[in-house]
Amino acid sequence: MKMHRVTAVILAIAISSATAAQWAKICSSQPANKIRGCDSQGCGGYNDPRGGRKHRGVDVVCEDGAVVYAPFTGVINKQARPYGNGNAIDDGVQLSGSVFANQLDAHPPQHQHRHWAPICAGNPTNRIRGCDKYGCGQFGADRHGSKGKHMGVDVICADGATVYAPFSGQLSGPIRFFHNGNAIDDGVQISGSGYCVKLVCIHPIRYHGQIQRGQLLGKMLPMQRVFPGIVSHIHVENCDHSDPTHLLKPVVPPFPQQEGHWATVCAGNPTNEIRGCDRYGCGYYGAPRRNGKGKHTGVDVICADGATVYAPFSGTLSGPIKFFHNGNAIDDGVQIRGSGFCVKLVCIHPIRYSGTISKGQVLGRMLPMQRVFPGITSHIHVENCDHSDPTSNLERGKGQRV
Ligand SMILES: [Zn+2]
Ligand SMILES: [Zn+2]
Repeated sequence: MKMHRVTAVILAIAISSATAAQWAKICSSQPANKIRGCDSQGCGGYNDPRGGRKHRGVDVVCEDGAVVYAPFTGVINKQARPYGNGNAIDDGVQLSGSVFANQLDAHPPQHQHRHWAPICAGNPTNRIRGCDKYGCGQFGADRHGSKGKHMGVDVICADGATVYAPFSGQLSGPIRFFHNGNAIDDGVQISGSGYCVKLVCIHPIRYHGQIQRGQLLGKMLPMQRVFPGIVSHIHVENCDHSDPTHLLKPVVPPFPQQEGHWATVCAGNPTNEIRGCDRYGCGYYGAPRRNGKGKHTGVDVICADGATVYAPFSGTLSGPIKFFHNGNAIDDGVQIRGSGFCVKLVCIHPIRYSGTISKGQVLGRMLPMQRVFPGITSHIHVENCDHSDPTSNLERGKGQRV
């Protein structure tokens, strides 16, 4: 489900162009530093027309209130005031860090990255396969026929696409998954930079020697030939069978967490935006509920059917938590207790109902709410165990000065 919302921009004025490496994510609401296209106020690209002049920067799309990160290590020189008229957006900062190249020498590249590089051309955010008729792509998904659970993560990749090394390391292989010589029975292992991973269903350029992060590693094999209609993907499996999701798709920003604020709960809704009102009701805490059901004792966090759900804080799982008790398609959920909180997340299918989970880790998947309430704004019902209001915990530092 595509959400329509007003987008705002960060005015990024590039002072230096001498950067060999990429900048980090600037805005918490979108990981790819996507540049504003054109709207009624103009276009966001470099040199786009501005009245009679040219736009001397690029506009990075960012939601109002989102957290902003430093794109590189440097020194904050001074306040920047682009308008000089004190309007509500007349603030900014100048950051300079010409030492970026020196830092590359001081810290080997692999230690500068807390997450892996894009693995497949055409999928810059390492998007993970959802569900199709063959199964689901997330870690821990059920596998039919006594095969147990999915021990890896499936990164979407079109047949024949170029594949890149997620980190620097030593290659070994071949790694075979099917052992039947089918068209996709090939792969390679990379070990280094503190990681060890198997990439399967690809044909690597070689099975030994060194490879650098982001370097050409091989080519996606023709998965459609073996599984017609599947979402073609690279099976990515940690050698120790731990969950690689957070390395592929960092949800938690790479610095200490703000106490009290929960992580993003649903993929595609980085700010935990709360459902407004639709014909079934409203999503805020205390909203009236029809049929004498009293008030809404939770908050509805917008989440598209089938989207990945993350743990808002670290804790211990218990469940299942059922809301409807009628076995409908969305009658599932889980409770998390820990970090000083206790919350129930309902209308999701969790990866498990017990054990511990870390903040930002994959917790499960949004259930098909449209099937039960056609036209509703699909959402996770988030309810504190003591029925208090969780809104302030969900709003991740919105309105706070950093
Ligand atoms: Zn897989
Ligand atoms: Zn609700």
